[in-house]
Amino acid sequence: MSVLDQGSPLTLETLRRDLDLATAGKEIYARIETLYPICRSITGNGVRETLRIIGGEIELQTREVPTGTRIFDWTVPQEWNIRDAYVRDPNGRRIVDFARSNLHVLNYSAPVEARLRFSELQPHLFSIPEHPDWIPYKTSYYSRNWGFCITERQRQALAADPNIEYDVRIDSTIEDGHLTFGECFLPGRETGEVLFSCHVCHPSLCNDNLSGVSVAVSLARLLAGVPRRYSYRFLFAPGTVGAITWLALNEERAARIQHGLVLACIGDRGNMTYKRSRRGHTEIDRAVEHVLARSGQPHELIDFSPYGYDERQYCSPGFNLAVGVLSRTPHGRFPEYHTSADNLELVAPEPLADSLSKILAVVEVLEGNARYVNTNPKCEPQLGKRGLYASMGGHGDARAKEEAVLWVLNLSDGSHTLLDIAEQSRLPFASIREAASTLQRHQLLSEC
Ligand code: ZN
Repeated sequence: MSVLDQGSPLTLETLRRDLDLATAGKEIYARIETLYPICRSITGNGVRETLRIIGGEIELQTREVPTGTRIFDWTVPQEWNIRDAYVRDPNGRRIVDFARSNLHVLNYSAPVEARLRFSELQPHLFSIPEHPDWIPYKTSYYSRNWGFCITERQRQALAADPNIEYDVRIDSTIEDGHLTFGECFLPGRETGEVLFSCHVCHPSLCNDNLSGVSVAVSLARLLAGVPRRYSYRFLFAPGTVGAITWLALNEERAARIQHGLVLACIGDRGNMTYKRSRRGHTEIDRAVEHVLARSGQPHELIDFSPYGYDERQYCSPGFNLAVGVLSRTPHGRFPEYHTSADNLELVAPEPLADSLSKILAVVEVLEGNARYVNTNPKCEPQLGKRGLYASMGGHGDARAKEEAVLWVLNLSDGSHTLLDIAEQSRLPFASIREAASTLQRHQLLSEC
C-alpha cells in the first residue's frame, strides 16, 4: 500500500487544519512556565529534572553517559550540581542570591567559600552596563572558574563601600557523574528518520532553549497520534557536548536521518528565520522554504554557517546531514539574548503556536512528497469523462484544482517530485498533493 491509501498525509493535514492554535499556544507556554525555574547546565540534576517533566508527557528514553567517555575528539565532562549561592553583606543580607535567579551564578562555577572585599570579588563579577537591570547568562564549562552574574545596579551597590567584607559562597560540586540526554522515538513505516533536536542546557532562559524544547514536546505528542511514513526522533540534549555524545554513540543510526531541524528561539514575536543545512538545497531546506514562502508572512532565509546551535555537529563534514535550523529571531540578534530578559515576557503563546503550525506544515510536505509516473503520458487523459474537469470551464477553486491536476500529470515523468512540481507551478504543496491523490485514485498516476 502506498502512503496515500492509508490516508497518512490526509490525517496529518487534518491535524494541522484542525489544530486549535489558541489551545496549543497555551499548552506550549504553560510548559515553558513549568521548566523555567530549573537550573540546567550541560550535566547534572537540572537536565534530569527537565527530562523527567517532559517524560511525563511523551515517551522519553533517558540515557546517562559516564564522565570520561570518549566522544570523538571530546570527553564527557564531570557533572555539575548546585544547591545554593550568595554574596552576603555584614548584616546578613543576601545582596546576590541564587534563590532569586539561577542566572546569578556563573554556570558550572566551582565551589567557593570566602570573605572578600569588593576589589577581590570584582574579577569574578559579570554585568551588562548598557542594561543595568538585566543579569547576563555566562558559562565556564571547560576552564575551572567561579563567578557571579549580577545586574549593573547590584555591582554599584557592592562597590559602594570598598572596606566592606562580603561572605561569598557557592555551594556546588564538580565531580565524576554522567551526561544526561533524552530521546523520543516515533517509528514510522519507513526506517528513514526525521530528526528534531533542541538543547536543554540553559537555565532560566525562555526563547533560547525552552521555546524549542516545549514546541518539540507538543509536536511529538501530535505526531504520536497519526500514522507516519517516516520515523521521528526528538533529541533533548545539552548543546554541543550532548549532540556530539549522541552522534558518537549512534554513528550508524545517524545515517538514517534523512531530514532534520534544530529548533531554537522559536517563541519570540519576530518573523520566522530558516538557516539552511550545509548542503543547502536538500529536501528539508526546500520544504521549509516552500512553507515559509506560501505563508505570505515576512521571513528570512540564511545560508549555513558553522556557528550557532547543534547544526554545527550534524553538519560537520563527517556527517553532513540534511539538518537546518528553524528560529524566529535567531540567537544573538535580540538584545535579551543570553540575559535574564529572555524571560516569560519575551515569548508568547501566539508565536509559539505559529511555529508549531509551520513545523507541522513542513512535516506534511516531507510525508507527502513522492515521485510519480503518469500512466497515460501520450497527450492529456480525458479528464471530463472522469469528472475531473468542469464542463463549462472552471472558476475559482475548481480552476485551481484543474491547474494542479494538469501540472501533476505533465511533470509526473518519474523524475519530478511533488515538491518539484509545487515549486515549478507556484502552487501550494497541499494542492499538488491533493491532485496527485485524486489522479492516483483514477489510476492515472502510479508511485515510482
Ligand atoms: Zn544559548
